[in-house]
Amino acid sequence: MQALELFKNKIASPAKIVITTHHKPDADALGSSLGLKNYLIKKGHEVTVITPSDYPSFLHWMKGNEEVINFEDKSHQKEAIQKIEAAEIIFCLDFSCLSRLQSMQDHVKNSSAYIVNIDHHQDPKDFSQFSYWSTDAAATCELVYELIVDELGDKDLLDADIADCLYAGIMTDTGGFRHPNTTKNVHLITAELIELGADNTKISKLIYDTNSVNRLKFIGFAISRRLVINQDLRIAYFAISKKDLKKYASQTGDTEGLVNYALSIDGIKIAALFTEREDGIKISFRSVEEVAVNKFAQEHFNGGGHKNASGGKSDLTLSETTEKFEQLIKDNTNTLYNQLELIHEKN
Ligand code: 5GP
Ligand code: MN
Repeated sequence: MQALELFKNKIASPAKIVITTHHKPDADALGSSLGLKNYLIKKGHEVTVITPSDYPSFLHWMKGNEEVINFEDKSHQKEAIQKIEAAEIIFCLDFSCLSRLQSMQDHVKNSSAYIVNIDHHQDPKDFSQFSYWSTDAAATCELVYELIVDELGDKDLLDADIADCLYAGIMTDTGGFRHPNTTKNVHLITAELIELGADNTKISKLIYDTNSVNRLKFIGFAISRRLVINQDLRIAYFAISKKDLKKYASQTGDTEGLVNYALSIDGIKIAALFTEREDGIKISFRSVEEVAVNKFAQEHFNGGGHKNASGGKSDLTLSETTEKFEQLIKDNTNTLYNQLELIHEKN
């Protein structure tokens, strides 16, 4: 039987379902998880969303947020493990390799559940029985919409709450409908979501325009004191220490979007954000259209992601990591910027 037909059979009758997503979920990760959850509940399933970590408070408005289990929350970990063990189906959303589940990964790996992966990252690893995957999709929320509407024919089950969740992921993964992944399909689906009741003004206010005073001051501090610009190498990056985060009482999500300020500088082709966390240095890479950072992140910083938005980690100190980064850019200028030069030559 075709994988899609088998998947349809699997969810045709009520089942115990767990939905999970990557560590430090963003709006696409959480929006696709809760959008799918709210739909599957309407189909009669018993559904639990378990995230491998907490996520920013500007995402707490989504329907079903209150019932999400944070795996790192010790008081709920036992319950989370029981849910995973009892699950007949586990949906893995918005990630392509199990390591992005961090401390949750072994529990999912050892589960006997039927695993479904819905994702738009490159190079998906083979860990699912059914994969609904496309790198042409701007967001996992776009794929969840297509799965429900085009494959399962359940558009009539979508409502304003589900539309809000899916809209949030599409909005943020397209950078507010600005990145090159903002296709005609994105606009068509977004239009449908608005017709279903997605409140686009409310969602963009909640996600983009809701700051604590501390966060705003932190952004100002980072731009004035922690931004390194190297025009020769066409890079700009932030290096944020634990002490900086403490000084501004930083909350999960406070560094989100910061890297884009570095990329907005005229002439800059690659931007990075290095953040010192408890478990090492977390890195965000961003690049302009022609320059790919995902391979760079994968080869040198144990990470990966999309062509223009990737991430990784480092076990070195903060300053060793930024030195390594600068050196790597120097050593790989040709490979990284080759495509760019070719495009410029053509024009
Ligand atoms: P962000 O910089 O917003 O944390 O992540 C940007 C993108 O990079 C994510 O959507 C994800 O695709 C990818 N990414 C971030 N961190 C990691 C990581 O540790 N490993 C991998 N494989 N991808 C990552
Ligand atoms: Mn995504």
